[in-house]
Amino acid sequence: IVIKKAEYVASAVKYEQYPVDGLPEIAMAGRSNVGKSSLINSFLGRRNLARTGNTPGKTQTLNFYRVNDGWFLVDLPGYGYAKVAKTVNAQWGPMMEHYLKKREPLRAVIQIVDIRHAPSVEDIEMQQWLRTMQVPTMIVATKVDKIARGQWAKHLKVIAKALDIQDVSLILPFSAQSGVGKTELNEAIEEILGL
Ligand code: GDP
Repeated sequence: IVIKKAEYVASAVKYEQYPVDGLPEIAMAGRSNVGKSSLINSFLGRRNLARTGNTPGKTQTLNFYRVNDGWFLVDLPGYGYAKVAKTVNAQWGPMMEHYLKKREPLRAVIQIVDIRHAPSVEDIEMQQWLRTMQVPTMIVATKVDKIARGQWAKHLKVIAKALDIQDVSLILPFSAQSGVGKTELNEAIEEILGL
């Protein structure tokens, strides 16, 4: 995909606030601070479309970005930040469940993890959740620039095991900083959308 146009369209909490264009959607999930906004900006080739370095867990909305007037990239609210107000935390589950279960245009969820760390309990729960709801999923391990290339395989293996991914090669190494994995992510999204 050549990104010709990428625009912020809406932030939503409730179902009624989701765009109704019926365009296919790819959503991005990950724990707060994992590098989700950076990945979105890097992928879309925009410096500041998705807000990076936010107070973790503060943004509890689904943010919709329309790409090339043809599909939506959806930034799902980050999870696993302990200091989020209880009321906000209580909202998160039902909001996500509703979205994942009911959103007809949803084609796939890309779950983002940090290559340096073993997946958190929340990462594992998210993966299980996606499986239960039978949402096609892809795992991206970001921030690979933070460890030596020779260490990647070892880390990817830990991630695959924790998330119960049979084939390590299904986890895509990525870095918003160095651009590693950008082409592969683009191709994967192209395939999901059938472009
Ligand atoms: P989000 O909360 O998941 O949206 O995370 P952000 O995109 O705001 O990133 C959190 C922090 O990680 C910021 O300080 C980013 O600069 C940093 N970061 C994100 N992606 C990368 C990456 O690929 N490499 C490195 N070195 N830092 C990154």
